[in-house]
Amino acid sequence: MEHKKILIIGGGVAGLSAALALEQLGIKASIVEKTGFLGGHAIQYACKATDQCVKCGACVVEEKLKAVTENPDIRIFLNSQIKNKAQNNGRSVITLNRQPDYIDPHKCTDCGQCYAQCPGKGAIEQGFSPNNHPLYALNADKCLRFTGQDCHICEDVCPEKAIDLNQQPYKHICEINAVIVASGFKAFEPVDKPYGWQVFDNVITNLELERMLRRQSIAVRPSDGLPARRIAFIQCVGSRDATLNHLWCSKVCCGSALRMARVIKTRHPESEITFFYMDAQNSGKDFEKFYAAVQNDIHEIRCLPGDVYQTSDGSLQVSHFDQHDRQSVEHIFDLVVLSVGITPGSDSGKLADRLQLKPELTGFFSASPTQLGIFTAGAAAGPMTIEDAIASAGQAVWQTVQYLKTC
Ligand SMILES: Cc1cc2nc3c(=O)[nH]c(=O)nc-3n(C[C@H](O)[C@H](O)[C@H](O)COP(=O)(O)OP(=O)(O)OC[C@H]3O[C@@H](n4cnc5c(N)ncnc54)[C@H](O)[C@@H]3O)c2cc1C
Repeated sequence: MEHKKILIIGGGVAGLSAALALEQLGIKASIVEKTGFLGGHAIQYACKATDQCVKCGACVVEEKLKAVTENPDIRIFLNSQIKNKAQNNGRSVITLNRQPDYIDPHKCTDCGQCYAQCPGKGAIEQGFSPNNHPLYALNADKCLRFTGQDCHICEDVCPEKAIDLNQQPYKHICEINAVIVASGFKAFEPVDKPYGWQVFDNVITNLELERMLRRQSIAVRPSDGLPARRIAFIQCVGSRDATLNHLWCSKVCCGSALRMARVIKTRHPESEITFFYMDAQNSGKDFEKFYAAVQNDIHEIRCLPGDVYQTSDGSLQVSHFDQHDRQSVEHIFDLVVLSVGITPGSDSGKLADRLQLKPELTGFFSASPTQLGIFTAGAAAGPMTIEDAIASAGQAVWQTVQYLKTC
């Protein structure tokens, strides 16, 4: 087994867990991650512990990331994607398209000068974890230099001379015995929903709230940075929606929103939190007990709002139909959080072509692909919690080991 090599596509919690499990079995694992950072979605989440741990899983992801980055036997290709896959004597030959790192991890000290002084909005991205090293990555799509301007500010301000914008993309070819697809999901982007996301500053998604709580621990209004007192969560945005052909429940959003509501209320007791929902989906064995406790802290409205409007003072007016009084009702909030659902990965069609896989009708990968030597782990196969993503990575590793015994 020690001569076998496995390629894992995706460096989220599923890919990290698969790499660690393979390494424990003495099997060489490489992770191909298309972005500049490992950890996927879940490394962006805040710990939601109040007086006790609520088992959101955020810290587990941090631990996995640390273990992978400290393990010299797990090879990591950041900013990389599969170009194609061919066969050679029973092994697969994979060609990777590698974008340059631009920031040399051996020289970078994570000082943040490049991030602070870059004039191109979003061109230098910041990782979410101290275990993301370098903590900064260059996004060539947003960098002024790569959009035709003569900008070298990041190279000039870096005290370690760690940045080199002259690096070129290149190909890397590797022979491997099996592939684990752990390419995850895309959070639904509610641009076409009538809730004003990306129109009104104070309408954000649950993913944006996770990032906010991770960085600054309280919920604020993006428009002025002041603490948000009246907060609405609108559930099932992009899930269970026949108009989008997204008939599935995203499984994690109710638990995630309620945990965020609890932690906001604990840190800022004057917050008033309203939860608009269809029905609360149970997300784990302790969910009912947790839900009963959170219900004391929030105001629940079992209905999804029709519209969100901005008032003249920048607050948000949310209207919904009151079934009991048979009339439309309006509420005013400082912050509206859209609990967006889990949808298939943005490039899962392209990835499927390159691996000669057929995705399911939903667009997710099958949990048991029919291609020899290809296995799936995590939310690439559909909505799941962090705990389930880790379990599915274990299962993919077990299937991989059984397969390796036959070849
Ligand atoms: C807002 C929100 C809150 C949530 N909160 C919780 C929570 O509190 N608790 C919980 O248990 N679960 C939560 N979840 C679910 C959790 O995010 C998932 O269970 C977890 O992220 C799945 O991990 P993954 O590795 O399968 O996928 P991802 O986290 O999506 O990671 C996939 C990785 O693959 C990379 N990738 C994609 N395509 C390619 C490609 N072609 N080539 C190379 N790399 C690629 C991506 O860049 C990414 O790094 C939440 C989900 C959302 C949307």
